[in-house]
Amino acid sequence: MTDSKERLKRNVWMRINDEELTQVYEFNQGYIDFLSRVKTEREAVDYIVNTARQNNFTDLDTVTEIKPGQKLVFSHKGKTCGLLVIGTRPLEEGLNMVVSHIDSPRLDLKAHPVYEADGIVLLKTHYYGGIKKYHWVSMPLALHGVVVKKDGKKIDISIGEKEDDPVFTIADLLPHLGKEQMEKKASEVINAESLNAMAGTLPMKDQDSENIKKYFMQLLKDNYDIDEDDFTSAELELVPAYAAREIGIDRSMVGAYGQDDRVCAYTSLQAILEVEKPERTALCLFVDKEEIGSTGNTGLQSLLLENIVADLLYKAGQQNYFMVRQCLRNSFALSADVNAAVDPNYPDVFEKMNCSFLSQGVVLTKYTGSRGKSESNDANPEFLGAIRNLFDNHEVVWQVGELGKVDLGGGGTVARYMAYFGMEVVDCGVAVMGMHSPFEVVSKADVYMTYKAYKAFMQEFGNTTVADKTTKTTRKRTTRKKQQ
Ligand code: MN
Ligand code: MN
Repeated sequence: MTDSKERLKRNVWMRINDEELTQVYEFNQGYIDFLSRVKTEREAVDYIVNTARQNNFTDLDTVTEIKPGQKLVFSHKGKTCGLLVIGTRPLEEGLNMVVSHIDSPRLDLKAHPVYEADGIVLLKTHYYGGIKKYHWVSMPLALHGVVVKKDGKKIDISIGEKEDDPVFTIADLLPHLGKEQMEKKASEVINAESLNAMAGTLPMKDQDSENIKKYFMQLLKDNYDIDEDDFTSAELELVPAYAAREIGIDRSMVGAYGQDDRVCAYTSLQAILEVEKPERTALCLFVDKEEIGSTGNTGLQSLLLENIVADLLYKAGQQNYFMVRQCLRNSFALSADVNAAVDPNYPDVFEKMNCSFLSQGVVLTKYTGSRGKSESNDANPEFLGAIRNLFDNHEVVWQVGELGKVDLGGGGTVARYMAYFGMEVVDCGVAVMGMHSPFEVVSKADVYMTYKAYKAFMQEFGNTTVADKTTKTTRKRTTRKKQQ
């Protein structure tokens, strides 16, 4: 009882005034629209880069000089991108960066996906990221991505999003014949090699074998100029075909696919659009491949971050590798990723004194990991103290988070790949219910508070000119000098 009273006091809805309440709902309208349009990392990059250009951000590639106040945008391989607002202080004093990921769990088509069986043409898939396979049957699926021809021509695919578009689906076994299936462990109920999506049944009349597959390929050829071999050089993703929706009679929540981690991507994007002439340079970075371990040349285990800083310093006339190291080491970062919200249907997996709740504000997660914080970043308390101060000064409602009870599972984020460079970093994002499911739920109040948190961080964290933070900033700078 005391517990729930305490939580009510910390509830965002109880702590905001009518004016902010209106802003919460307005902000989330834009967010819902974004979620319905953007379902893949490539679509996220297109959306973010276009939005940046519309808001007077210049392509980093086209500038030769770096000046305070400049707003810059860059992208890499069409799957990662970032926005920069150049600060008045020298770059080697470090950046304030917010880093989210724009890939989400899904079903990828294999290199040879198309086959015909029992009068149906099907598409073979290999799942991407941590999914519960039984989530992905009996639902409408849309196909998004690109196909690259041998001559380099790139074909964009998006089938299943418009109201009159056809969709794909993976049928589940009927309960009448599901006796054996229902006795299996949940991880084995759906076999990964049975995640084959139905894609057509019409035969080509003048053929005698595999005529349904032939007709399907003919349609792909006629409509998209795709030959069967072209699937080899393609990135095609099956994702839920439905749009984002408001949840609850009070419309206080958002339900959608891919909110891990596009909720942090959208909030940080909106935040940096409003950052003006910061002291420390602000970087809002959107990365790929987090869900499979931040691998590949678009994931954060690559030299991506180092290359961005090197590029920036080169253009700023600091053509000295030591400066790259110094800039990265002196940076402050928020690893902008989601955490699990306490789910009243599963009270046994959460430790309520330390887990996060819907509508209690942006979540600060000191450590992630599993089995004794293994592979966690485990943020420094000196940095966390300064972040608490920033959030409290800016009326950002925040809460602590831990990913469930100790030893029940776990997970990680990109935080540790940033900590590698020596910068201060902590996980900070939105509490999500049903994370990694095809319909994740967040509270609109938390979405708004997360935007406020990122904006305060990029605009003001580590500033020297804010009177009421002078003591704390001095202490922080001393600590940093000692580390060097
Ligand atoms: Mn995530
Ligand atoms: Mn995830």
